[in-house]
Amino acid sequence: MGFATRAVRTGHHRTPEGEHGEPIFTTSSFVFASAAEAAARFAGEQQGNIYSRFTNPTVAAFEERLAALEGGERCVATASGMSAILALCMGLLQTGDHIVASRSLFGTTTLLFNTYLARFGVDTSYVTLADLDAWEAAIRPETRLLFCETPSNPLTEMVDLRRLAEVAHRRGCVLAVDNCFCTPALQRPLELGADLVIHSATKYLDGQGRCVGGAVVGDRKLVGETVFGVLRTAGPTMSPFNAWVFLKGLETLELRMRAHARAASQLAGWLGLQPAVERVYYPGLPDHPQHHLVGVQQRTGGGIVAFDVRSGQTGAWRLIDSTRLLSITANLGDAKTTITHPATTTHGRLTPEERADVGIGEGLVRVAVGLEDIADIQADLARGLKAIS
Ligand SMILES: *Cc1c(COP(=O)(O)O)cnc(C)c1O
Repeated sequence: MGFATRAVRTGHHRTPEGEHGEPIFTTSSFVFASAAEAAARFAGEQQGNIYSRFTNPTVAAFEERLAALEGGERCVATASGMSAILALCMGLLQTGDHIVASRSLFGTTTLLFNTYLARFGVDTSYVTLADLDAWEAAIRPETRLLFCETPSNPLTEMVDLRRLAEVAHRRGCVLAVDNCFCTPALQRPLELGADLVIHSATKYLDGQGRCVGGAVVGDRKLVGETVFGVLRTAGPTMSPFNAWVFLKGLETLELRMRAHARAASQLAGWLGLQPAVERVYYPGLPDHPQHHLVGVQQRTGGGIVAFDVRSGQTGAWRLIDSTRLLSITANLGDAKTTITHPATTTHGRLTPEERADVGIGEGLVRVAVGLEDIADIQADLARGLKAIS
């Protein structure tokens, strides 16, 4: 089946009621025909539901559909994107293990590694995302995991995933890719050699800013046993209602991603012509350092555009405050266009040195382009840019 067909048709196993839409199973536990059946289920001798901390038919439908779209054998849904990363780390790593990660990561992921995993004796080294030699050089005998986002948040840097997967496997490491910005509609890291895909379902998989959720996708062993074991025991579970919202979100994912990317590409070109704008970060622009990966690794430039204004934080804040249509919020992947000042929000808990290291300046603004008319988005930003010119 093609991608669009899988997005609409997989995951739902119709019940004897003959429902056409996917049902929401709001039940915490499941009933057994007999004590012997209960015992067989708990012993793992018989397939079937026991308790919604670890299996629920609505959550399973979402997992099956997302696995089908990413091309993975198994998917485990989680309560949030962060708990997906946590479950992956808890399943895979132990004290003394080492992570190599890209310097440009979602701010909270960096915090999770530096503040919490470090406390349990898991050390993380950071490298420049696109620099494959740096990845290789940072790997130690105890390195277990390579972790990256491509494109990165918020500067849209990219890494050649095929080559990074080769480095990981040559050195006996697992490669996990946070595929939040592209989604499987634009990029499928497993097909490029990655072992695990992470999602914040909160973003484009939902697509309308309603629910928080996450997922890990990969093979039967790493995801079906290692990550699932953590979920079953520690319990950062996705609720059936949220799973239903994401399940329906996946049906329109490809259409939405195409529309987001078309608008973002147009906006990026227009921003580059504005005198108050110093630099635009968008993979679809020919001057983007990894532009050659667009059309090869990821289908389009995606829906996120970042840019530096010439007047630092004062200018960035004034620009943000002069918009009337755009939403001032840190979320992305919504039908509504959002505008963010990363240095004081999503990356505000990093030290100024850490921010400078990643290249997040005081004048940086991130726009997650929504599904409104592009002329209205541009007009809204034009007002702000005029105010700071
Ligand atoms: C939002 C986000 C996360 C975290 O996801 P939550 O659902 O908010 O926990 C992880 N990675 C990226 C790239 C994100 O944008």
